[in-house]
Amino acid sequence: MAEHDPDEKRVDEAIERLLRDHPPGTTPEREFLGHQYDLGLAWVHFPEGHGGLGVSPRLQRNVIAAVAAAGGPLGGAKNPIGYGMCAPAVEVHGTDEQKTLLRPLFTNEHIWCQLFSEPGAGSDVASLAARAVRDGDEWVLNGQKVWTTLAHISSYGLIIARSDPEVPKHRGITAFIVDMAAPGVEVKPLRQITGEAEFNEVFFTDVRLPDSMRLDDVGRGWAVSLTTLMNERVSIGGGVPPRNSGPIGQLLEVWADAGGGDAAQRDELTRLWISAEVNRLTNMRAAANRKAGTPGPEGSVGKLAMAELNKEIYSFAMNVLGAEGMLVSSYSEHPPKVALFGDDVGKNFLRARANSIEGGTSEVMRNILGERVLGLPGEVRVDKELPWSQVPRS
Ligand SMILES: Cc1cc2nc3c(=O)[nH]c(=O)nc-3n(C[C@H](O)[C@H](O)[C@H](O)COP(=O)(O)OP(=O)(O)OC[C@H]3O[C@@H](n4cnc5c(N)ncnc54)[C@H](O)[C@@H]3O)c2cc1C
Repeated sequence: MAEHDPDEKRVDEAIERLLRDHPPGTTPEREFLGHQYDLGLAWVHFPEGHGGLGVSPRLQRNVIAAVAAAGGPLGGAKNPIGYGMCAPAVEVHGTDEQKTLLRPLFTNEHIWCQLFSEPGAGSDVASLAARAVRDGDEWVLNGQKVWTTLAHISSYGLIIARSDPEVPKHRGITAFIVDMAAPGVEVKPLRQITGEAEFNEVFFTDVRLPDSMRLDDVGRGWAVSLTTLMNERVSIGGGVPPRNSGPIGQLLEVWADAGGGDAAQRDELTRLWISAEVNRLTNMRAAANRKAGTPGPEGSVGKLAMAELNKEIYSFAMNVLGAEGMLVSSYSEHPPKVALFGDDVGKNFLRARANSIEGGTSEVMRNILGERVLGLPGEVRVDKELPWSQVPRS
């Protein structure tokens, strides 16, 4: 297929140029990523000039595989929220001026965070209460966000706030890009079960946002949110790693190191392996079918399956490890980074608990799949047409 697909040929030629002219071994990381962006290999499905080549997102796999094989940096690894969620929203909804932020986002010069969840608005994020009030060419922002991953090292945040309380909740929201160093932005860490504080509370007190940093039209914040959330689900659960890698690969290592288990445990291991493989192949098929643009509800399939499976895999690994599994040898309260799964199985067991909450809970994924894929009756939504200001809240 590679030889007959002109888009794939273009991508492969650009990859060849990138690796030939800027070998990862001798090119500083940020510089390498800059060249990757300029050649359209940052997000291949974005338009030319914005880090892409306007081709199918499935071809990003070619870039990832070739750059990894050459020992180059994995684009987005240090800036996962920016890369996987904020960038697609800026690309779809942003102005040309705002899109100039995509290059420094990709090179990790600017880390980004996503400011959606609030203490009173998580699953039902459209009920959010942070207020944006227009004042001439500016907006004044007040409110609180929570669980904001990487806010403590972010230069920019993608925020949604209530601009009109007198219309139903989905219609009165506006999205902005916020400078996290602006006066009135306060970030406080929240420590997780792993000991790390990868996320934060963020407080906004009379923060002034220029109207030029508004994303899309006033009142179109819900559309921006959907673009972000759909991409988030694919970004979290839609990956196509090599067979036997990631959590299932780690379980196989634990199993081999422990010298295997009894027949019942072997059955369980096999069941988990089959589930991991089914999930991997399903994601591969979804990626092949995905056209450029915002992913559909299929992203929720991968997200739901990944979250539940990771929890099962690491619970089973704990059983295989026995008492040793209770040790978290790399426990640390310091690293201010996103906790990707590492070598420490005990820590991964703890981190996997969050998989079924972050990016939308498993219950919410099931609701989306039930309604939008299976066509089941929708949930009862009594506040859908009520002006937000008239909805009772605690
Ligand atoms: C590690 C981690 C990182 C995160 N990073 C970010 C981030 O960077 N930015 C950001 O904005 N947010 C972030 N979040 C927040 C995350 O999106 C929310 O936690 C999530 O959407 C759930 O919201 P909530 O915590 O308010 O729970 P709630 O919405 O209060 O839900 C509580 C329980 O009720 C269930 N429930 C709620 N509604 C329904 C329903 N309609 N049907 C069935 N069950 C329901 C839920 O499944 C859950 O079990 C992060 C969370 C975690 C754990």
